[in-house]
Order: sequence, then C-alpha cells, then structure tokens
Amino acid sequence: MKVEFFRHDLGEAELESVEKVLRSLFLTTGERVEEFERGLADYLNVKHAIGLTSCTGALHLALTVAGIKAGDEVITTPLSFIATANAILMAGGTPRFVDIEPETGNIDADKIEAAITKKTKAILPVHLYGQMVDLKKILAITKRHNLKIIEDAAHALEAERDGIRPGQKTFGACFSFYATKSITSGEGGAFVANDQATAKVVRQLRSHGITAEAAQRHRVGLRSYDIDRLGWKYNMDNIQAALLLPQLKRIVKNWERRTAIAGIYRREFEKAGIAMPSINPGVTHANHLFAILVPKNKRDNLLDYLKSHGVGAAINYPPIHLFSFFRKTFGFGEGDFPIAEDFSAREISLPLYPALTLAEVKYVIKTVKEGLQK
Ligand SMILES: *Cc1c(COP(=O)(O)O)cnc(C)c1O
Repeated sequence: MKVEFFRHDLGEAELESVEKVLRSLFLTTGERVEEFERGLADYLNVKHAIGLTSCTGALHLALTVAGIKAGDEVITTPLSFIATANAILMAGGTPRFVDIEPETGNIDADKIEAAITKKTKAILPVHLYGQMVDLKKILAITKRHNLKIIEDAAHALEAERDGIRPGQKTFGACFSFYATKSITSGEGGAFVANDQATAKVVRQLRSHGITAEAAQRHRVGLRSYDIDRLGWKYNMDNIQAALLLPQLKRIVKNWERRTAIAGIYRREFEKAGIAMPSINPGVTHANHLFAILVPKNKRDNLLDYLKSHGVGAAINYPPIHLFSFFRKTFGFGEGDFPIAEDFSAREISLPLYPALTLAEVKYVIKTVKEGLQK
C-alpha cells in the first residue's frame, strides 16, 4: 500500500470555476478575488480579508503595516515553518525566539514577558498543527506592554479557542493556501483583520502601494494613480480565487473528516503508548497536521521504516534557530531553545486529509506501531 503524505481533493467544481475565468477577460485581481475575500471573511467572522499570493507575503505586509522596521524586535517561536521568522527579517525586524510548551509545541506564553525589551514591537505566535495559542493570556501581556499581535494562522483556518477565532482580537491573522494546506490554490494566502484602516493599507501594499488596483481602474476608467508609500507584489489573481471559491463550501465537511481521522489516530496511538501533543481545554483543533512524538533515538529509524513501507511522513519542523543562516547571522547554537529542539527531534507528522480511506488510516497506524518495534 502507498499512502501519500498529502493528496488534494480538487476536482470538477474547481475545473469549472477556473475555466470560467480562463474564458473571461480578467485574469488578475478582480471579481473572483473579491468574492473569495467576502466568503473567507464571512467564514472566519471577521470584517476584512485580503487575498494574497502567500502566507509569507501576508506576514510581511502585516508586520510592515504594524510598523515593524529596522531595529525592532518581534517575539516568535523557533518551532515553525521558516516563513514565520523570515517574514520578520523581510520587514526589517529581528526575530526574538521564545521556547515552546513541551506539551503542545506552541510558544510558551508564560515565557514571553521575560523576553520583552525596549525594542519589542510585536508578538508573532503560530497556531501549531491547528491548536491555537492561548490568545487571552498573550493579549493580556500585549496590553500591559503596548505590543501588537500578528497571528500566523497557516494551520488554523478552522480553529477556535475560548470563543476566539484567528484575526478577531489581534492586529490580524495570516493564512496560507499553499499546496498542502486545507484549502489550496497551489500557492496563495490571505490577511484578515477587523480594523478597516489596517485592511486598507494591506490592500494597497499588496500591489506596489498603488492607490487604485487594475480592476478598479478598469471599472471607473481612471487614467492614473499615485504611489504614496512602498509596497510589494502580493496580489491574489482571479485564477487562484476561482480555485479557492468552491473549496470554501467544503471547509467544514473536510475539517469534520480530518477530525474523525485524527480521533482514530489519537485513540489507537494512546492504546499503544505512543505520545502526542496534548490538546488544551477550550480548544477547537483545526486538525491541520497530525503529530506523534517518539523517542529521539527511534525517530529517524521510524521515518525510514515509514518511507520503505509507503507511508508519507514529515518533520514539522526543524528548529529555525539551528538553520545555518540563523546560526551565522545571530550566533544561535544547540541548547539555545532546548524544549523546541527536543520536541523537534521526536516529532513525526502523519498523513491527514479528507481523501484518506479507513484502510489507509489503519495501515498508517499498523506501520507506525511495527516501525517502533524495530
Ligand atoms: C505553510 C506555512 C507558512 C507559509 O505559507 P506560504 O503560503 O507558503 O507562504 C507559514 N507558516 C506556517 C506555520 C506554515 O505552515
């Protein structure tokens, strides 16, 4: 049997939706994007959503609009995809890592305050695997120190914690529609926020800082426009939006299917004495990734065993501070964030997507258990 780490579920609905765009006049940012933005904002119960080409771009723009500039520090986690830390550098800031909770893999909110300096301007938490961080606790800290929170919600489209969903209580949240995310346009992203002024500037900066985008100029026949500050080129196009629109309707159904699969994994691995990140009270888990935590000295053997038996797996993530660029640039080394290093060395992510069959789920479980006996 071969169980891929991820298989998308795009089909007829997406083909039809994209075909409509290809037969129309407007390929770039236009009506399909606006429709997607409205749909995403409604789903998340936030006021504004802005379609972008990646979550990395969303983070870069959000940090820029939040006022991050050279010399500013942004507190974040060392256990994330590299985009989280790179976006801080792109905005001109400096990432200041805070170690994780050993139970969940999320940034340890109790360690944030000790890392705040005069240079700290924002906190960039990641809702790892789909479990949101304790925003109530972090909001209390940011209120005391007058800091902004920008959420890396790439794993957290369907998540909620203590009645709060991404983007509702913070400066804003950033989403990814990369190939393996729960809705996808191959590459894509979005920024969401409740504050209108913030949304307006993010919208402007996604297209070079141009005050009127192409669709708007086409519509009202504007001959010219102004650039009143520097922007980038992160605007989502109609083709990406057309791919995403039918998937908006499947978000809940697909999430329920992944949640059922995660429930089976969790029950069976618990019975087998295999550790997993814990889930806190008050959390609605997005179940974006399913992680197990195995003894360090068995992890790489298990990865080899899974590969040779056709089970796709991944490590989420290698600690960011130990990449050579970060060691060279900031002088980081082993032992700097020991909990993240230990967690990362024990972690394996298993296949988790709606198209998985029950037979495949059982095969993954059996193969993991066998691999650990070797
Ligand atoms: C996928 C991912 C990103 C980057 O998303 P892109 O759309 O590829 O830029 C950022 N953060 C996390 C946690 C991710 O999983």
